[in-house]
Amino acid sequence: MQEYRKNTILTMEIEDLGTDGEGIGHVEGFTFFVKDALPGDVIEAKVLKAKKHYAYARLEKVITPSPFRMEPKCPVHRSCGGCQIQALSYEKQLELKERKVLGNLRRIGGFSEEQLDSIREPILGMEDPWHYRNKAQYPVGTDRDGNLIAGFYAGHSHNIIPATECAIGSGSSAALLEIVLDWMNRHHIPAYEEQTGTGLVRHVLLREGFFTGEIMVCLVINGREVPAAEDLIRALTAYEEPSEQGFPRRVTSICYSPNTSDTNVIMGNSYEVIYGQGYITDMIGDIRFRISPLSFFQVNPLQTRRLYEKALEYAALTGKETVWDLYCGIGTISLFLARKAALVCGVEIIPQAIDNAKENAALNGIENAMFYVGAAEEVLPAFYEGKIPAPESGVAVTKTTAKSDNSDTSVENYEGCDSSDLLHPDVIVVDPPRKGCDAACIRTMLEMQPDRIIYVSCDSATLARDLALLTEGGYRLQKVCPVDMFPHTVHVETVVLLSHE
Ligand code: SAH
Repeated sequence: MQEYRKNTILTMEIEDLGTDGEGIGHVEGFTFFVKDALPGDVIEAKVLKAKKHYAYARLEKVITPSPFRMEPKCPVHRSCGGCQIQALSYEKQLELKERKVLGNLRRIGGFSEEQLDSIREPILGMEDPWHYRNKAQYPVGTDRDGNLIAGFYAGHSHNIIPATECAIGSGSSAALLEIVLDWMNRHHIPAYEEQTGTGLVRHVLLREGFFTGEIMVCLVINGREVPAAEDLIRALTAYEEPSEQGFPRRVTSICYSPNTSDTNVIMGNSYEVIYGQGYITDMIGDIRFRISPLSFFQVNPLQTRRLYEKALEYAALTGKETVWDLYCGIGTISLFLARKAALVCGVEIIPQAIDNAKENAALNGIENAMFYVGAAEEVLPAFYEGKIPAPESGVAVTKTTAKSDNSDTSVENYEGCDSSDLLHPDVIVVDPPRKGCDAACIRTMLEMQPDRIIYVSCDSATLARDLALLTEGGYRLQKVCPVDMFPHTVHVETVVLLSHE
């Protein structure tokens, strides 16, 4: 096989996208990964690093641009790296994402093309794939001339590129960051400097409720106090912008989070409120959620709603069902389904997320959702084998907490739910992190024999692996629907329905 030396210039056509959005091309059977090159481009590339079977190369020149190449909206998208495929037409992005999901189900899951063709639903893309994010964290710094700047880190570095407008961020960011920088300038408040550990303002976290117009501004500071806070409050609360839905977008929460550590972690461990509440509220469908500076919330609220509606459709609930929601986070899917089910039981490993889930259940008057803190692969088998207490039906109106002796898993009992059904539930929903479900979790799911399993996945490779196990265990793949939660990035979510044969 030909050896490719560093700095060799080659011409190639890009055929596909790699997992990080890099273009993939071949020269005489040898594979090249080229950042910023797009499928359909004919390019000139310079070899950067060659391995035995593949090499990394740099895009030198686009000789013939791909017919799917677009003028990217964001002038700095290449240096930012947040939107790996912004220069590709949105239609083509959707097509490639769909192909990736189906390709993995075929290759890794072993499903046939015919079967997939008969059950696949078209990818759910966005009508307007811009400004979809409800959260952004902007680093603050000082440029060479001593001016305060806010923006983002240039890929793989901590050099701040000033840019207060983000094509996928909220439309309010630029104005709000201007207000914060202005306030810093007026009061001579220095930006944090990583090298010396001096200065005050490290990051500005912005969160917005897309269906309420409530905005949170949270400063991450290298200190314990925000100076001239009154002036910051005055300036930020004067901001008001009409939204497309007709309500005003305005700042209802101003907080700060102390972070004095020399760390890449953005947020501190705690936060203080200096104006309004310590949270904003947003809706997914008709469920309200409180979002605090530190809590997890899906970043694309419009598509989240469509994803959950798809999961709800697949769950085919009539009001009588018992449902497990494994990897439930702050209980978003649990609460969304609880309205249509008899009982939903969520399981999540992070205790604070379960605190949020319970608060959100209470906020919405939902009493048929209960939550376990713990790993799904531990809680589910332990529950199935009777090692942790089952919630009893018909307990007192107030919630009681029972603790098992050998774990810190807690169960809350609600009135009027027949929890014995949880041993053989109607539906199990799973929404695991990238690595997918643990084998012990899958085994217990199979023993519980729910009628339907709904798998929400952010990584179609591990999804395919797990689906192979579930189908071996007696389930049939019924529907597959990719959902584009993150336009202009390479990520794609998938919802899948399986039913017991
Ligand atoms: N369903 C939620 C969150 C999904 S993200 C939503 O739609 O908002 C995946 C969640 O799984 C995260 O909250 C993560 O903390 C949790 N998690 C990770 N490993 C876990 C495990 N082994 N058991 C239970 N939860 C886990």
